[in-house]
Amino acid sequence: MAAPIRVTVWNEYRHEKTDQVVADVYPEGIHGQIAKFLSAQPGIVAGTATLDEPEHGLSEEVLANTDVLIWWGHMAHREVADEIVDRVQQRILNGMGLIVLHSGHFSKVFRRMMGTNCSLKWREVGERERLWVTDPAHPIAEGLGEFFEIPHVEMYGEFFDIPTPDATVFISWFQGGEVFRSGVAYHRGKGKVFYFRPGHETFPIFYQAEVQQVIVNAVRWAAPTKGPYTDLSPALRYQANETFTVEE
Ligand code: ZN
Repeated sequence: MAAPIRVTVWNEYRHEKTDQVVADVYPEGIHGQIAKFLSAQPGIVAGTATLDEPEHGLSEEVLANTDVLIWWGHMAHREVADEIVDRVQQRILNGMGLIVLHSGHFSKVFRRMMGTNCSLKWREVGERERLWVTDPAHPIAEGLGEFFEIPHVEMYGEFFDIPTPDATVFISWFQGGEVFRSGVAYHRGKGKVFYFRPGHETFPIFYQAEVQQVIVNAVRWAAPTKGPYTDLSPALRYQANETFTVEE
């Protein structure tokens, strides 16, 4: 049997401590809820890490033992140390998967991986969202219908300032009329990155079956594959595979 996929669910874990509405929705924290449904899946083991732990819970050792990192942040992006962002970036470039959720679009880690502002429009009135599957053959769409809906969300609208994705798996429509690229996939070095829009802290979005299905699918997609290169950091002087002469 294949070794399980090791997931670390990172959450800044601030709203849950300061806002009773959020604490009521996520008594074990957003990270606790995500780690719970992931751990119930065969072939996945999930741990957690939070901002206020030493090194934000992301020591070299933790990252070396993480196949896929999940990131939720909102109010404390600026408190994430640049040294940790550097470390996470290097680990992704050398194969770790990254799944960024909702307001993580403005995290230092996601902006570093994208190289753009990652800005967008937003509105918080609890309207309905319909997520259309726009890449039905993509592994992240496995098991879904042609669309699914979330009854109450915070709206995110275009223009979303991201690089053109390798794959756009979902596009959302909102009651207010906006659209948004809600599920976008990238390759960065040996690592795979997926951004998934839903997940505002005051709504029970991470309890919804389709949302959980997408995150589980994304974990399986983003897990590292055994490829030819062990470390992509150095530029190697390379001997030709064949013997040849260069003519004058
Ligand atoms: Zn939000």
